[in-house]
Amino acid sequence: MAVLPIAKLGNPILRKIAEPVTHDEISTVVFQAFIDDLVETMRVKDGVGLAAPQVSQSKQVVVIESHFNPRYTQAPEIPLIVLINPLFTYLSPETAEGWEGCLSVDNLRGKVKRHRKTAVKGLDRSGEKIEIETDTFLAVILQHEIDHLHGRLFVDQISDVTSLAQIEEFNQFVLGDKTPVA
Ligand code: ZN
Repeated sequence: MAVLPIAKLGNPILRKIAEPVTHDEISTVVFQAFIDDLVETMRVKDGVGLAAPQVSQSKQVVVIESHFNPRYTQAPEIPLIVLINPLFTYLSPETAEGWEGCLSVDNLRGKVKRHRKTAVKGLDRSGEKIEIETDTFLAVILQHEIDHLHGRLFVDQISDVTSLAQIEEFNQFVLGDKTPVA
């Protein structure tokens, strides 16, 4: 497995619409190894989610996982999810505002409004259909990661630009935690 370099804000690949993955491609050794690398990269970089365009592959694949995470100390436990060609089947009219960051946007946190409840369908890494319905933090991560597949970043959707904060200031003034987080 390999840790892949992260494409950062300003890299045009982050603004492209990602290509759907074909059923035949899913079972290939190359694609399965890519998923392993995507998961490994998310874990090493302490992300709770990572989309393929963030490692310069314009494909509709996202991975999500949350255990104790120094970048998101209040994040709940979410077992590993590999989601290919995801599509929202439900987005609740009710929204909730929460703090977000992104591995492609160094050191920034900002408040984003998201649909409170979502349902998503897609394929897992075996090509089997999966559906996820959630109104937890996972709903926020799904919206953030699937946005990456459509060329959108959380900074496009900041509800109040004055909420933008550098990570150390976020920890100090928002969380009240003086421990710096990388
Ligand atoms: Zn992101």
